[in-house]
Amino acid sequence: MRDRAQLVYDFADGDRTQTDLLGGKGANLAEMTRLGLPVPPGFTITTEACKFYLDRGEEPQSLRVQVTMALRRLEDGLGRRLGDVQDPLLVSVRSGAKVSMPGMMETVLNVGLNDYSVKGLAEAAKDERFAWDSYRRLIQMFGRTVLDIPSERFEDRLDEVKAREGVTTDVELTPVALQGLVEDFKGIVADATGREFPQDPREQLDLAMRAVFDSWNTDRARIYRRRERIPHDLGTAVNICAMVFGNMGEDSGTGVCFTRDPATGKQGVYGDYLVNAQGEDVVAGIRNTLSLEDFARLDPASHSELTRIMRRLETHYRDLCDIEFTVERGKLWMLQTRVGKRTAGAAFRIATHLVDEQVITRDEALTRVTGHQLAQLMFPQFDPDAPRTLLTKAMAASPGAAVGEVVFDSATAVARAAEGRRVLLVRRETNPDDLEGMIHATGVLTSRGGKTSHAAVVARGMGRTCVCGAEEIDVDAENKVLRVNGTTVAEGELLSIDGSTGEVFAGELPVVPSPVVTYLESGLDAALQGVDEEAADLVRSVDRLLRHADRTRRLAVRANADSAEDATRARSLGAQGIGLCRTEHMFLGDRRVLIERLVLADDAASRDAALAELLPLQRADFVELLEAMDGLPTTIRLLDPPLHEFLPDHTELAVKVAVAKATGEGASEEDERLLAAVERLHESNPMLGRRGVRLGLLVPGLYGMQVRAITEAAAERALAGGKPRVEIMVPLVGSVMELHLIRDEIDGIIGEIQEAAGVRLDIPIGTMIELPRAALTAKRIAESAEFFSFGTNDLTQTTWGFSRDDVEAAIFAAYLEKGVFTVSPFESLDRDGVGALIRTAVEKGRETRPGIKLGVCGEHGGDPDSVHFFHYAGVDYVSCSPFRVPVARLEAGRAAL
Ligand code: PEP
Ligand code: MG
Repeated sequence: MRDRAQLVYDFADGDRTQTDLLGGKGANLAEMTRLGLPVPPGFTITTEACKFYLDRGEEPQSLRVQVTMALRRLEDGLGRRLGDVQDPLLVSVRSGAKVSMPGMMETVLNVGLNDYSVKGLAEAAKDERFAWDSYRRLIQMFGRTVLDIPSERFEDRLDEVKAREGVTTDVELTPVALQGLVEDFKGIVADATGREFPQDPREQLDLAMRAVFDSWNTDRARIYRRRERIPHDLGTAVNICAMVFGNMGEDSGTGVCFTRDPATGKQGVYGDYLVNAQGEDVVAGIRNTLSLEDFARLDPASHSELTRIMRRLETHYRDLCDIEFTVERGKLWMLQTRVGKRTAGAAFRIATHLVDEQVITRDEALTRVTGHQLAQLMFPQFDPDAPRTLLTKAMAASPGAAVGEVVFDSATAVARAAEGRRVLLVRRETNPDDLEGMIHATGVLTSRGGKTSHAAVVARGMGRTCVCGAEEIDVDAENKVLRVNGTTVAEGELLSIDGSTGEVFAGELPVVPSPVVTYLESGLDAALQGVDEEAADLVRSVDRLLRHADRTRRLAVRANADSAEDATRARSLGAQGIGLCRTEHMFLGDRRVLIERLVLADDAASRDAALAELLPLQRADFVELLEAMDGLPTTIRLLDPPLHEFLPDHTELAVKVAVAKATGEGASEEDERLLAAVERLHESNPMLGRRGVRLGLLVPGLYGMQVRAITEAAAERALAGGKPRVEIMVPLVGSVMELHLIRDEIDGIIGEIQEAAGVRLDIPIGTMIELPRAALTAKRIAESAEFFSFGTNDLTQTTWGFSRDDVEAAIFAAYLEKGVFTVSPFESLDRDGVGALIRTAVEKGRETRPGIKLGVCGEHGGDPDSVHFFHYAGVDYVSCSPFRVPVARLEAGRAAL
């Protein structure tokens, strides 16, 4: 960092493009200031300062001076001094990373209060209660976030005082009681830390700022980032903002609102308001809130100004905005805005509504939805015709149909989910410490808090089903039961929650496919039958955006399918061909013994007999497949896995033979032969052994039989008037010589069958690129291959040297934690390593054969991020499992924009 780098920006100096430096909150506060909206003045300390601090454990040298100068400007502008004994300026210190991480990091409000300025505040505000309430809040928040004192110590004391005073809410506490509470809280601080609560306002500010920096690396923030794939090195900005007060009496309050409904996407503003409350009270879901309609009745002037600002912000950002605001004695202040998080369904609906409102173009609409969101919309829903027992209905906070065993704490949720059980996390309200439980639960149910509570915001962000604010439910976490309208549900019992309607049902409700899946498989008309207007609007939105993606994309999308049934489904989901038919899947079940016989054959005659038995079975498979895919390219891959996979388990067989011998019965000759074969074929690293093309070269007749079956099937289909477009693919090639040798055999067989059948078949022969050597020598390989298909599963395995079967649990948890990568390279393509090999192979393959067809058939073919990479790398198509075909279509469209 340069010595004179600017580390502090006044709100008046920045704008919304500066999210890298100022974080999302800071950049948007600056933007609102620029727009002339009522934002309290303040300044932002940059993410660069945070990164410096996190790297070196100390702030950059010039930061102190820059903060002093910014503070001076703030004080001069307002004519008040931080922590002054008369009419003090107070500030909030709030985190704000580039990417929103709701509730994950720290905030301290009311910084600047001390034993003297509290009196000045009381005087200036003419409100003793307010001043002492603000001071106790400062000590409580500062104690928890800056000094790491468990929050219960403060909360318990607050509860005790409320009980002693005979009141139920903090608002009812008298100034004297609050003053006493401040003394108690200071005592807690002194007891827990061995020092007094800091009285120097500037020291409070510096410590709070450091606590915000440090909160970037708390466990929960790291967990959240890992889940959301947010890099760990962004750091957070810190926003210092002049306090305005929502806790100044009945004409004050604080709220959160959205310019559209973030849960459904419905047009019309939406929000929660809390009278006489401060900052985090709404999001924390501590008290139940009022709606915006109630707010309009209560304070029409502020409400109508808010409505005007909401309209202004939505036009300006051209998207759904969420807003935090405060009313201080009838004066409205904007504390935050950003383009708001929304559910998957809302994303599709809002994008198409904005097109219809002529706010954005269709291309922009496509950038507003993602393949992940489409995948979420494909989840099943509760069967509307199933009998049900409704227990209660609350707020529909994040859609989906979730069934699970009720658990009352995060740790139990994690533990039970690890046993493979579906759990439903039930809490009075959630807080950031519940994050892991929420990740592992199928759904979240809370009894307090609105649609903007922590539970709702976080659940929506992660696509988790959530019902919140179910006031009728009494959550007794201590005794691990909940009671609702006369029914008691204990931990471990099943509940079903519908995040689209807010309904909570007893037991397990059956689920049915979502209308989006009906649309994808059977078309628009079928999907619109019998659904309500919201669902119909959603389906139409998906249809419009997906069709636009299809018009826009350059990448074709095929499916990986091994049976006619899967192929048919894939075709209805929009697959433009089959990119990978794994023929080994055709040898499972009853047919396994035929391969076993082939492996055991010790002379040509018995081998030929085994192959002759396999041939008609394979041919019939291919006829069916080619019929289902008539007219579309169908890539059939020759056998790939090591042969021992078709033989019995070594240990079991060895035990069987040993037991038979020990009991004097003697093992059967068959078993002895089998055991010998298993032992002969044993490999320490079978994934690197006799598999793929190596089998084709080592087991005479095997590939020949498959090629014969494929070609005969194609001939049969052609003679029957079909349009078979089969392609034969050779796996695990590392050298062009392997391909030359195999092609000698293949080409001969194809020629012979064409001649015999009297049809001309155009059957391209290509190879998978799944070894680094193949990628590096692609120029030579393309001499013999008419197409390449990148097998990114094996290419990742062999590039990293990670075993794809073992590595995830053993190594990846630690690697993700340590930040070696933010996502498993088997899930999302490693662009720098594996991607570089792919780029090389694309380039070299085209040097030899300019028109060579290039595809991808590893799991990455259906991963949204990877699809974008493949688009840029210039491949022709991706191939993925049938259900991911619509996701890949959408992402390929987005990539082309
Ligand atoms: C691959 O390796 O990416 C591939 C598609 O083949 P398989 O997963 O069958 O090894
Ligand atoms: Mg492979």
